[in-house]
Amino acid sequence: MNFSLYNIMTVIIPKKAYLTIVAAAVRFANARIPKDDWLEASGVLIGKNVGDDVVISAAHPIMHQELDKNAVMDQYKWKDEDYEALSIIDDEAFSRGEFTVGWYHSHPGFKVMMSHIDIRTTLSYQTNNPLAISLVFNHMRLIKQIELPDKKGDPDIPLENDPGFKIFRLDDVSGIEASYHPIDFKIEGYESMTQLIQTTQAFIIDVTNLLPKEGLIETYQNQVNKSIEELNSQLIGTEEYLKTLAREGATSRIPEVLLNQTRDINKFVERANKKIEKMKEFLDYLEYKERNIIIHQALEVINLWGQKVENLETDLRAISQKF
Ligand SMILES: [Zn+2]
Repeated sequence: MNFSLYNIMTVIIPKKAYLTIVAAAVRFANARIPKDDWLEASGVLIGKNVGDDVVISAAHPIMHQELDKNAVMDQYKWKDEDYEALSIIDDEAFSRGEFTVGWYHSHPGFKVMMSHIDIRTTLSYQTNNPLAISLVFNHMRLIKQIELPDKKGDPDIPLENDPGFKIFRLDDVSGIEASYHPIDFKIEGYESMTQLIQTTQAFIIDVTNLLPKEGLIETYQNQVNKSIEELNSQLIGTEEYLKTLAREGATSRIPEVLLNQTRDINKFVERANKKIEKMKEFLDYLEYKERNIIIHQALEVINLWGQKVENLETDLRAISQKF
């Protein structure tokens, strides 16, 4: 294939696939984790070729590096269940007329480029599909809008409206030459690149707080418990307030106060619901091998909040009937 053809190719990325890559990467490298413990994460991209373009439909997180201070960059320990996940995802894609169009991985805090290991991995994808792509993401590039210089000591390279990644393809599929080039891409689902950068930076903060690399069920349990406790305390507070009014003979104010309290409680519930919705969404960003075990449990925890909210009207009526 000649090089000029590569230059006109575009990779189309839907918003959900982009967010999946960001979340799966940030989960293992974020402000809650010491920088020395940041880990790379990796997954596959599903989609199809339309002409010379690659149209991605989904990104699937597969695995992350293990914590090993002596580990080489880009080196992953593959488990049987990871290979299994790859083949299940590929089979499912095939049944929809799609296939594995490439792979992504993260360079947490280091330059977006392809290492020798990355080139070898990309070669195996491109051997099967010459149009296969390799996406490399660094969340710090997105947060700070800078790229590290080629030479250590040189100044950082300022970026503008950069989504934190580049997409590469090898120039030569015979593998003799290790050179590669960046490919154009378009992320769909945003009004502008500025909006993309702003919302994704906020998304990174949510992922940092709500999608831990370990102990997800405990994190979800804590979040749900906190919300339920807060709601309970607001209900108790309302009742106490009304009791005081009744005691002081200010019963005429009770309907108005009850209305205001109910409005505040509903506002709190709305805020908590937003967080719970995020927690539900974040389950989509788990690694394939985790899904069976974690998602069911997490939804059960989330459901406790749903039940609490469902009973809210009854709880409020019970309070108002006391007065
Ligand atoms: Zn790499």
